[in-house]
Amino acid sequence: MSEPILTLAGLDAFYGDFQALFGVDLTVSEGEVLAIIGANGAGKTTLLRSISGLIGNKADQVQFRGASIGAERPDVIAQMGLAMVPEGRQLFPSLSVEENLMIGGRVNRKGPWNLQKVFDLFPILEERKAQASTSLSGGQQQMVAIGRALMANPDLIMFDEISLGLAPVIIRDIYKALPGIVGGGMSAVIVEQDITKALEVSSRVYCLQEGRVSLEGKSDAVSREDIARAYFGVE
Ligand code: ATP
Repeated sequence: MSEPILTLAGLDAFYGDFQALFGVDLTVSEGEVLAIIGANGAGKTTLLRSISGLIGNKADQVQFRGASIGAERPDVIAQMGLAMVPEGRQLFPSLSVEENLMIGGRVNRKGPWNLQKVFDLFPILEERKAQASTSLSGGQQQMVAIGRALMANPDLIMFDEISLGLAPVIIRDIYKALPGIVGGGMSAVIVEQDITKALEVSSRVYCLQEGRVSLEGKSDAVSREDIARAYFGVE
């Protein structure tokens, strides 16, 4: 396997006194699509927020491209090549589709992604580029959120609850776009409630349970029984 682009080493995360992650060890290889699954409240969002610097950690608990980034600010981490598509999209409601996309482009990194490439990936966004982002459907807003992250030309893109609340046909379109996103060597971490989908698109999977890794394995090798046990903690 190739070198890890991201390594978590004993990652803990806290909200005040409440501990949400306990010693999480995890690696993402160059060009890999990694899936993270787990029940509500297992710590998936917290994991992504810790990696992107939205929750402070000990510096050496998060290594990105060999640098200790656990204590870095989110803007520094974004500039280093890590982008997140957050749960709930979090677009700027008063800005147009195009303006929302351009915000991602403010991270000044060289790479293949620009406005036209995002429009080629999601043609509906070009048609709607002058519209307020709030006038779009949930699925189209998710496309804007993905496009905004791509505009930053990251080396690693993380998707939180990529298909939450979207119609099946939109989910299919978004997943159809995934090979075009990671095909150029970008690595991806996907948090996904739909286990079948998660296993289908990833090479490896981690399951979190109450803030701990309860399963790690190759996506085509883990059994449904293993997942049920890791997910719910049932024997
Ligand atoms: P979901 O699928 O519901 O988003 P999740 O696996 O992403 O779940 P997290 O959102 O990471 O889980 O939550 C992990 C734990 O941390 C939960 O017990 C949650 O209640 C708690 N938590 C999350 N955000 C906060 C916060 N801002 N303040 C305090 N506790 C929080």
